[in-house]
Amino acid sequence: MDPFDTADLQARDSAHFLHPFTDTKALSGHGARIIVRGDGIFIWDSQGHRLLDAMSGLWCVAIGYGQRRLADAAHRQMLELPFYNSFFKTAVVPAIDLATRLSRLAPPGFNRVFFTNSGSEGNDTVIRMVRRYWDLQGQPGRKVILSRINGYHGSTMGGASLSGMDYMHAQGGLPIPDIGHIGQPYWYGSDRAESPADFGLRAARWLEDRILAVGPERVAAFIAEPVQGAGGVIIPPETYWPEVQRIVDRYGILLVSDEVICGFGRLGQWFGCQHYGTRPDLITFAKAVTSGYIPLGGVLVGDRVANALVEQGGEFEHGFTYSGHPTACAVALANLDIMEEQDLPRHVREDVGPYLKAGFESLVDHPLVGHAEALGLVAGLALVADPVSGRPFDPALSVGLLCRDICFRNGLVMRAVGDRMIIAPPLVITRPQIDELIGLVRRCLDETHAELRVHGWLAD
Ligand SMILES: *Cc1c(COP(=O)(O)O)cnc(C)c1O
Repeated sequence: MDPFDTADLQARDSAHFLHPFTDTKALSGHGARIIVRGDGIFIWDSQGHRLLDAMSGLWCVAIGYGQRRLADAAHRQMLELPFYNSFFKTAVVPAIDLATRLSRLAPPGFNRVFFTNSGSEGNDTVIRMVRRYWDLQGQPGRKVILSRINGYHGSTMGGASLSGMDYMHAQGGLPIPDIGHIGQPYWYGSDRAESPADFGLRAARWLEDRILAVGPERVAAFIAEPVQGAGGVIIPPETYWPEVQRIVDRYGILLVSDEVICGFGRLGQWFGCQHYGTRPDLITFAKAVTSGYIPLGGVLVGDRVANALVEQGGEFEHGFTYSGHPTACAVALANLDIMEEQDLPRHVREDVGPYLKAGFESLVDHPLVGHAEALGLVAGLALVADPVSGRPFDPALSVGLLCRDICFRNGLVMRAVGDRMIIAPPLVITRPQIDELIGLVRRCLDETHAELRVHGWLAD
């Protein structure tokens, strides 16, 4: 019995719906998995299979599925005032309330917010603001924004340009001018000749090297995620961020913290920069600000940039029809109510974060795992052919995708980035649920190992 008629849905899906980042022809061959319902940390597909969603949708659903208060907030707001814009000297109440609330939750020195609909639009806004800031400083030559290889900042022309994925740049003539990329602080992916601490310092100094190569008078900003998410949960060594802060301070360039994933408790603080003690000038946010229940993103603008834009800038020629959308802002406020009532950043920092770390990092004893690490509620492990030497699999074998499919079959959503398996479960997850999650991961690793052995892809 299939109340959803999955075959029909799959046929219409492949005929009409172009999915993001998807090979449509390949997908049509086997049909998409249709997700129909969610509750807490679980989702269900159209054939009744339950999955533990260890990716929070796509890093979004911090408070879990099925929270009625967000639906009620949207319902109330839509009946009251579903939409009005904030152009032409007008404003709407939920946008004012949300901007006020975010200014209170943000680190000191952040008192203004620009709203967008997504993280990509947030980072496009960052590009506009950064360049406008330097124009207003009388330094229009400062245009270059530095970013990192394998960082992810979205998929608009600006966001994709900042992103350090060459396969994205290859389609569409990107990056746009005056964007540069430096290496990422991925110690396990290096030759591991240095300690993580030494490597972290060296990786930070790639920024200084590039600033000097470009010419400090031409560099406007450095943008990075506190922990790289879509790049495979790359947690930098503890030495990395303090050294980056020293470098941006030394050359006076703006620091942009892309917290579309790390914001709103993911690393155990309201913002990821607070975990590392950095002092960014701009913070991009999206995803968990509404727990993904409705699209909303934006930029928290620190006083240094805000004062220039507001006091000297005149009209800022940028904005979106839906900047400060009342329904989206109302949903965000209900989401933040729940986060604050449950003090989710603290729940992550003091309770489930350390618990997940202990469980997840114990997976390093598995014969497929070369390295496993966690921080707050993000975690990643590297599947390798030989855990002693760290020798990777041939990428052509797509071992990560094989493992991901096995996870799906076993009722677990875990994402593969190359041969890194990553998770970012809802922040409301409990300790018993983490036990269940780690047990599932271990079972899926065992099955992957067994399958690789059958294929003859293991050395022993
Ligand atoms: C998801 C993401 C984005 C892009 O956000 P969209 O809402 O998909 O446009 C930008 N930066 C980071 C760090 C992200 O994880």
